[in-house]
This record gives sequence, C-alpha cells and structure tokens, in this order.
Amino acid sequence: METFNELELSPEMHRAITELGYTKPSQIQSEALPILLNEDTDFLGLAATGTGKTAAFGIPLLEKIHGHKKVVQGLIMCPTRELALQVCGQINLLGKYKGIKALPIYGGAGYEEQIRGLKSGSQVVVGTPGRLIDHLEKGTLKLKDVTTIILDEADEMISMGFKEDLETLLEATNREIGKIWLFSATMSPEVHRVADKYLVDPKQVKVNKKEMLSTTVEQIFFPTRESDKPEILCK
Ligand code: AMP
Repeated sequence: METFNELELSPEMHRAITELGYTKPSQIQSEALPILLNEDTDFLGLAATGTGKTAAFGIPLLEKIHGHKKVVQGLIMCPTRELALQVCGQINLLGKYKGIKALPIYGGAGYEEQIRGLKSGSQVVVGTPGRLIDHLEKGTLKLKDVTTIILDEADEMISMGFKEDLETLLEATNREIGKIWLFSATMSPEVHRVADKYLVDPKQVKVNKKEMLSTTVEQIFFPTRESDKPEILCK
C-alpha cells in the first residue's frame, strides 16, 4: 500500500492524517490497517516503538467508535505514564475531526481530574493497568461498551509485573462485543501465554525491527535522577 487513499477512511480521518503530515503508510500500517479496518477480529502485532504502531491501531480504533455515544468504547493499556500520555496525544490528534476524546489515566496523579474526564464522556481511555483497576473497582470506569481492547507493549507490561492486572481488565470486558488487539515488540513465552489464553483466532502481522520510520535519529542515554533530568538534558 503506497498511500492512505487506498483505504476506505472517513473524510475526517483523512483530514487528520494529512494534518499530521503522514503521506506514506509505514510497514505495520500498510499490513495491519486493511485487516483492522475491514475485519472484526482479534489481532497480534509484533512491532516496536518507532514503527508507527500507534496509528496502526489508532486509525481503525477511531473509525469503529461512535462519536455521538458518550461511553468508553476503546480501552488502551500501556506500561508507563509516559507512553500513555504519548499514545493519548496521538489518538486525540487522529480523532480531532471525528469529535472523539481520549483520556489518559495513570497512577501518581490525582483522582479528581480523571473522574471528571471519565464522567465527561470520553470514548477512549488510555491508561496504566494499576490505576485502571482502581477506577474499575470504584465504579468510575465502566467497560461494558468497550468494543476494542488494545494492549500496547504487552511484553513491557508483563515484565513490569502487570500481568495479573491486565488479565483482570481483560476479564472485565464483554468479549462478545470486544476484540483484543495485542501489540508487542517481542513474543516472550509470557506474551505467548496471554495471547493463547485470551485471543481468539488472531490475525498476525510482524514487522522487522529494522523497519523503523526514522533511521536518522541517534539514541543515547545518561542515567540520572529524575530531579536532575531537565538540567542534564539541556547540557
Ligand atoms: P510510533 O511507533 O507509533 O511510536 O510512531 C513513531 C512516530 O512516527 C510518531 O511520532 C508518529 O507520529 C510518526 N508516524 C506514524 N506514522 C507515520 C507515517 N505514516 N508517516 C510519518 N510519520 C509517522
């Protein structure tokens, strides 16, 4: 697939994609989008960050959601607050012209604002498993209308000890209407077990680690304390 025009996308989605400056679909997008847009199926995507995986699940997720229904229809689980914020930001940009709102839900932040966001009728919730469960138990997060459940970086969530939490969340959704799309950079035995247990006849797409969108970005890291981060970054 050479362009996004080859897909049957809504005019609102085309507009958002154009505004984001995406012209050519990445490999994971050109392989996953035709499946996720046209088939009501569970899905297993092996792709790392930097491959364009967020839009690969974000575009079909948003196309499935009814903007006028003010209930949670899409649930995205992420391993960290940073990833949840990044994914939420991208979903909001892609959903801008469809009137769809995504809400980030993560630990370490106050409950009040999150509860207000949930009450205001966000259709997508992007969160870390622990805090999502807190809201589920409080009754402030309702999952009965969720039609798409996305596990982003499933391998990371499992290695960070969230396996039981994400299983609790999967079990709280209505699997008669909810499809699971699992994304992971690696297929560890633990990810395999979760996929085998919860995914029903998943369609699979695998992207080579080398197929990243940017090959010009050099990455380095310096171990530091959180409080020193801004200064070290500026230096
Ligand atoms: P991700 O792998 O989802 O974290 O995406 C990595 C980066 O690539 C993000 O900054 C996206 O906004 C960007 N991106 C995603 N899809 C495309 C595309 N088709 N063309 C150009 N950039 C893209």
